[in-house]
Amino acid sequence: MDFFDLHTDWPFEAFKRKENFKNGDLAVTLAGGSVFRYWRALCAIWIPDEHPTPRARYREVLAYLKGQTEIAKTAADLEEKTAFLLSLEGASLIENEADVDMLFQDGVRALSLTWNGKNKLAGGSNTAGEFTALGERVVMRMNERGIAVDVSHLNDCSFEGAVAAAKHVFASHSCCRDVCHVRRNLTLGQIRKICDKGGIIGLCLYPKFLGEGDCLENFYRHLDFLVSHGFEQNIAIGSDFDGAKMDKRLDAVDKMAVLYNYLKNKGLNEEFLHRLFYKNAQDYFYALLKLTE
Ligand SMILES: [Zn+2]
Repeated sequence: MDFFDLHTDWPFEAFKRKENFKNGDLAVTLAGGSVFRYWRALCAIWIPDEHPTPRARYREVLAYLKGQTEIAKTAADLEEKTAFLLSLEGASLIENEADVDMLFQDGVRALSLTWNGKNKLAGGSNTAGEFTALGERVVMRMNERGIAVDVSHLNDCSFEGAVAAAKHVFASHSCCRDVCHVRRNLTLGQIRKICDKGGIIGLCLYPKFLGEGDCLENFYRHLDFLVSHGFEQNIAIGSDFDGAKMDKRLDAVDKMAVLYNYLKNKGLNEEFLHRLFYKNAQDYFYALLKLTE
């Protein structure tokens, strides 16, 4: 099988614990991912909005990540067996829109304006912060550069502003609020707005977003909700491995086959599963990276 993960936090986790990406004690490692034919992941650098020195934090974690693996920057890189794209989860290091150019040079191809808090750009899901004028200028520069706006952590108010301004928009790790009512999940209206712009939805494996009960069955329910509303072309997966406490059956990258086989036994065909696990996300980021080659 092939797998494109729209969100993993392994870079910060590895940095914090001084673990290695090759075969260390992480949910996501090269050894774990060797089960896939093609494997891609958006590797996020997590920066809490209240961090006192966000730029130093970013530089430190980026340096550690670069010591562990290459960063994919072009569409051609997405033709290799493995490719690891760089994303930001929380952009409080941005002081002005010119910083977007610096991030692009580093290889950042997707960016969440906030984590759960509030910063100069927008408000995250635990706050009432608004999408600001600077946030809008930053999104405009991201549009020009070909960096996708990740709306997973935004609050409902900032979501509206960011999606309206964004050319390339997606949700890296969120589920459906109609199925599990938590703020981090997306309403049907929000899902429509993302998909109307050609975006994709990375269903998250975090049990709190999936809902109470069996995580595999709950994943199926969120997936079924998206498909029943016509979003088969937009479905994808954003695991949140190394960023959240997972169910034991689904707590590392080499266990993705457990989910794959569960869904297959539910009667979903291989072409559909290939779209979910890989192809929708691959097509989305291939097209995005092609723009700036
Ligand atoms: Zn997150």
